[in-house]
Amino acid sequence: MALPSTFALVDGNNFYASCERVFEPRLRGRPLVVLSNNDGCAIARSDEAKALGVAMGAPWFRIRHLEQQAGLVALSANFALYGDMSQRLMEVAAELGHGQEIYSIDECFIDLTGLPEASARARQTRERIQRWLGLPTCIGIGPTKTLAKLANHIAKSAERKPGSYPARLAQVCNLLELTARQRDWLLQRTPVAEVWGVGPRSAAQLQAHGVQTALDLQRLEPALVRQRWSVVLERTVRELGGLACIGFEQAPAPKQQIAVTRSFGQPVTELDDLRQALTHFGSRAAAKLRQQGSRAGALLVFIRTSPFRPQDAPYARSLVLPLNPPSDDTLRLVGTALQALQALYRPGYRYAKAGVLLLDLQSGQPQAELDWGAPPAGSGRSQRLMQALDAVNDRFGAQALWLGSAGGGGGAPTAGCTEPAVRPWQMRQQRRSPRYTTRWDELLQVHAG
Ligand SMILES: [Mg+2]
Repeated sequence: MALPSTFALVDGNNFYASCERVFEPRLRGRPLVVLSNNDGCAIARSDEAKALGVAMGAPWFRIRHLEQQAGLVALSANFALYGDMSQRLMEVAAELGHGQEIYSIDECFIDLTGLPEASARARQTRERIQRWLGLPTCIGIGPTKTLAKLANHIAKSAERKPGSYPARLAQVCNLLELTARQRDWLLQRTPVAEVWGVGPRSAAQLQAHGVQTALDLQRLEPALVRQRWSVVLERTVRELGGLACIGFEQAPAPKQQIAVTRSFGQPVTELDDLRQALTHFGSRAAAKLRQQGSRAGALLVFIRTSPFRPQDAPYARSLVLPLNPPSDDTLRLVGTALQALQALYRPGYRYAKAGVLLLDLQSGQPQAELDWGAPPAGSGRSQRLMQALDAVNDRFGAQALWLGSAGGGGGAPTAGCTEPAVRPWQMRQQRRSPRYTTRWDELLQVHAG
């Protein structure tokens, strides 16, 4: 019989704000927000900023007065720094178990099935990440991904809001160590909206039916849930009950991100094949982005070997590259993804999965055009090209028109594959911290005395 599964979810606390604090200790203990591209609105908040009542997505002009009143510090997003710190975090986290699924820039699932001492291992991993990288994390452990996510929520809340959950569950919460009664008690204290996979709309519907807590949801009859809501919610109910239904490959896409990822039919070893795969994924992601009228401010690429093939040497790496200015252009997105691939690829591994995640999504017209009058050279042409690309693909099927690098040989980079020259005027980032870990000329300087 197969071993019952055990999952861990490792999640960085206030990740962007924490990355900034690693290199700027004077920011510790102070309210801190990170602003989106063009310094528009808050996309990350320290606990102190949350306590001031700063909401996620709050426009900067609305919270600016807190600079004077409460010592709020605002920084421009520094995705080069966050992406690099993310990769380091993922490398240390991977040591926790025998399989890793990178879920977002600061979250990954780890397969702990069959490993003894899960809580002690998790504590050790947490301490390593803290000591080696200076980043605080919380780790949730459970028999299903949904319960690991819930355990992580408990670990985080117990630390941040004393009294919300028992203090001994702070930082690392392992539901497998608790009795059934204790688990029920925790589920009863957790609002249904906090359950992974329950969006705001289904939360409102569930509440209207008297389902207020995670325990209420877990006690619903799965068949009824499928009939009244959906197969997806039925799966969530079963997962809350401890039955693993969401495997190591099938996580739903995180909120605020567009993800195109796929496992390969057979292991891939050549860079050229990975280039083709990522060109496909990047093109698909870009089309989705344009469909919803957004632009991406950063892009994450990952490649990895299979966690199910212990005979293969393991390798799993991700890299985030910023997009300045934010873009919805297939050429730029694919070009950036291929640049990341170039940095990630190591020969000699049997790659089983790869993916592209678009981050820092923003909707509406690009700010650069509103703020500076003249759009960057060529952007009108690129917009017309993307409209033509989407029109042809809408009419003749999604795969009618592709970039040359999507297949048919030819490793030569396409026109869009070179990094555009850095034009500081293209984006307002007056408050950006140095790219400490990826630029020699921006290294942290330490002065004696
Ligand atoms: Mg996080």
